[in-house]
Amino acid sequence: MKRITILGATGSIGVNTLEIIADNPHDFTVYALTAHQNISLLYEQCLQFKPRYVVLASADLAQTLSEKLKQTESKTRVLYGESALIEVVTADEVDVVMAAIVGIAGLKPTYAAVEKGKTILLANKEALVTAGEIFMAAVKHHNAILLPVDSEHNAIFQCLPCANKYYDDKAVSRIILTASGGPFRDKLLTELQHITPDQACAHPNWKMGRKISVDSSTMMNKALEVIEAYWLFDVPYNKIEVLIHPQSIVHSMVEYHDGSFLAQMGSPDMKTPIAYAMYYPNRHKINVSKLNFVKKPLSFEALDGERFRVIPLVYEILKYKNYSATITLNAANEVLVNAFLAEKIQYLQIIKYIEHTLKMCHFDCPKTIDDVIRIDQDVRTFVRDLLK
Ligand code: NAD
Ligand code: MG
Repeated sequence: MKRITILGATGSIGVNTLEIIADNPHDFTVYALTAHQNISLLYEQCLQFKPRYVVLASADLAQTLSEKLKQTESKTRVLYGESALIEVVTADEVDVVMAAIVGIAGLKPTYAAVEKGKTILLANKEALVTAGEIFMAAVKHHNAILLPVDSEHNAIFQCLPCANKYYDDKAVSRIILTASGGPFRDKLLTELQHITPDQACAHPNWKMGRKISVDSSTMMNKALEVIEAYWLFDVPYNKIEVLIHPQSIVHSMVEYHDGSFLAQMGSPDMKTPIAYAMYYPNRHKINVSKLNFVKKPLSFEALDGERFRVIPLVYEILKYKNYSATITLNAANEVLVNAFLAEKIQYLQIIKYIEHTLKMCHFDCPKTIDDVIRIDQDVRTFVRDLLK
């Protein structure tokens, strides 16, 4: 029986994780669940999973949930704020942390779990994008176990040589990240002017949170994933390739020097990579739809770097080891995607303003997590001023 804390329990990854736990009640016990604001779902989760703690963003929200729970038999204690997030991942009772908060908001609690040498199931790619060098050094130093949940990275992890889950240039020649191309792959840029948030969030293959769905449509998600792979597998930037694969069946591949390609395939359902990470190194039977290769032929296309400019941009950043720019990229994207979702800017302005921000904002490489947070805040201020 493993004791788990789920950061971001009310999100798409959090809910999928809890569904696996519900089907396997003897394998996991829930120590803590956290959510930003979704009290009603967190309330339901409290009754079903009986966590020892839940954490919300503010005192007001915590008070409201606490009062609701008092009318039930629940013994769950309701906490709030960043220090509580850190408490519920670092507690001695916790074996495993699912890091599934969206955005840089997940960095501090996830990093705290690393410093405690926990086993971390990492969905929160923005933690690695913004703080990769510091984060991976801490993983090594504290002997934390980092298991990728992001489907591409989970696939690569499964396809790398067993003994060494890092890039090993004696055996491996390339890592190939697949990308569906999102909902607008076949549209001209000129057709994207009036795209609405709901259109951008309607991913053809995956059902995900709204921020990552918009990122998938702009290809920013793949740009973040190139950075994620770079840090996670310690792979040179020019050994990572992005390949368009519209069906999202091949989740990624590793090419070996002997000409072999190992690919991990499966239905586009996050339960598969989540369960792989939860049960690693074993395999566990879960409820996912089976693949039918006859019904769904596989195809691949080269990525159009002129159309999806953010991909070449990320390779430039990694080539020059300009790591503060990965924080700038992420912060600008978070603010701009939120502005787009709130219908304050148009779809095409997301990438346009990101490019402008990268041109205007320059910082030294961060040495600590506090440096990362400071750069993130400065960039957010810059972008918000831009939008005024
Ligand atoms: P989501 O928007 O559905 O859920 C986000 C969760 O984080 C919610 O529980 C929310 O309450 C919490 N949260 C949001 N802002 C917060 C804040 N400021 N402080 C504390 N908690 C906060 O997102 P998601 O789609 O589940 O994605 C979560 C992470 O997993 C992201 O980093 C995403 O890139 C990654 N990921 C998701 C998928 C997917 O299929 N959904 C796939 C791969 C990777
Ligand atoms: Mg992914």
